[in-house]
Amino acid sequence: MGQDQTKQQMEKGLKLYQGNETQKALELWLQVLKRSTDMSNKFRVLGCLITAHSEMGKYRDMLRYSVMQIDAAREINDGDHLAEAYLNLARSNEKLCDFHKAISYCRCSLELQDTSVGFHLNGQVYLSLGNADLGLSSFQKSLESFERALRYAHLNDDKMLECRVCCSFGSFYVQLKDFEKALFFPRKAAQLVADYGQNWSLKYRAMSEYHMAVGYRCLARWTEAMESCEESMKIALLHGDRPLQVVMMCVACAMHACVWCVRYEQKARPRYDASLSIVTEIGNRVAHAVALLGLAKCCLAQDEVDKALDAISKSYEIAEAVGNKLLLLRVHCLAERVHRARGPQRLVREHVVKFHELVEELELYCGFCGEAVGDRDQRLQALPCAHIYHLRCLHGNGTKGCPNCRRNSLKPGFV
Ligand SMILES: [Zn+2]
Ligand SMILES: [Zn+2]
Repeated sequence: MGQDQTKQQMEKGLKLYQGNETQKALELWLQVLKRSTDMSNKFRVLGCLITAHSEMGKYRDMLRYSVMQIDAAREINDGDHLAEAYLNLARSNEKLCDFHKAISYCRCSLELQDTSVGFHLNGQVYLSLGNADLGLSSFQKSLESFERALRYAHLNDDKMLECRVCCSFGSFYVQLKDFEKALFFPRKAAQLVADYGQNWSLKYRAMSEYHMAVGYRCLARWTEAMESCEESMKIALLHGDRPLQVVMMCVACAMHACVWCVRYEQKARPRYDASLSIVTEIGNRVAHAVALLGLAKCCLAQDEVDKALDAISKSYEIAEAVGNKLLLLRVHCLAERVHRARGPQRLVREHVVKFHELVEELELYCGFCGEAVGDRDQRLQALPCAHIYHLRCLHGNGTKGCPNCRRNSLKPGFV
C-alpha cells in the first residue's frame, strides 16, 4: 500500500468511527495495519485501534495493540514515539486495574520525554499516574500527580486535558467524601465542554455528566442526579461505550438504594447482576469489587446472609489482588457489621483490627484534630505538600505548618 493511499484509508476510518460506524472503521484500520510496511503508519493506525478499543471497553485488545505499538516505536527508534507508546501501555494497564504496572510505564514515558523534545504528553502521563495511584488509594501521591497534570493543561492551554483532570478530581473527592468538591470539579468539566467542546468527541460530555451525577447523588440532589444520569446513559448507549454504561448502572443502583429505601433491593438487585456480567467481560476489577459490595448490601436487606458473605469475600479477593486499600477498608467494615449481628466474636475483632490498620496506613485522619478524614461528608483542604486536612482545622490553626511533614507553610494548595 502506497503512502498516500494508507493516509487516505486511515482518514476514512476516522470519519467512519466518528460517524458511529465502528465496525467498518475497525475493519479498515486492520487492513491498513496488515498491508502497511511503513513503521510510522503502523504506529499511527495502532494508535487509532487503541483509542477505539479503550472506548468500547475492550481493554485486553487495547493492551495487545499497545504492546504492538511499543514494538513499532522501537523500530522507528525515536523517543517521542516510544514515550507515546508507553503512555498507551500505561493506560491499558490502568483500565485493567493493573495499577503497579501502569505506574511503572508512566515513569518510562516521563523519562523518555525528559530526553526528547516532546513535552506535550507530560500532562496526560501525570493524569494516568494520578488515576493509577488513586486505584491503589495512595491519595497524597494521586493529588500531586493531578495537580501537575492540571498545571500542564494550563501551560499548554489544553482544555480537553483540563476537563479530564477535573473529572478525576471528582472521583478523588467522592472517595474522600468532600461532596462539595466532588460536585464542583465535574461541574467545571461540564462548563469546559459547554464553552470549548463543540468539536470534541461526545465522550467528554458523557464523562462530565456521569461525574456530575455522582456528585449530585452524594449531595442527595436526586432530580439533578437523575438528569445527568440519563443524559450520560443516552450518549453511552449511542456510542456503545460499555465502560460508561456499567458505571452508570452502578450509580443508578445506588440511587435506587437511597431514593426508594423501601424494598429498593428488588429494583437494584437485577441491575447489579447485569453490571456484574459486563464488568467481568471488560475487566474493570475495581468496578467489579464495588458492584459485589452493592450486591452484598442488597442480599443483607433481603436476609440472605450467606449470599451476602459470599459476595463480600469475592469483593475482598478482588480488592486485595488490585491493591485498592479503600475498598478493602469498606469490605472489612461491612463484614464486621454482618458478623456482629450473628457472631462469632473472633471474626468481628479480626475485621475491626484490619479496619484500623488500614485507616492508619492510608493516613485517613486529620493531623490537627486527630479525627477521621473521609468517613462522612466534610470540607477538606490539601496543603502544597498534598497532606489533607479538615478545612475548619486549617482555619483554626494559624501558621503552625503542616503537622505531618512540618516543612511547609500553611498556604492552601491548588485544590
Ligand atoms: Zn481536623
Ligand atoms: Zn505535609
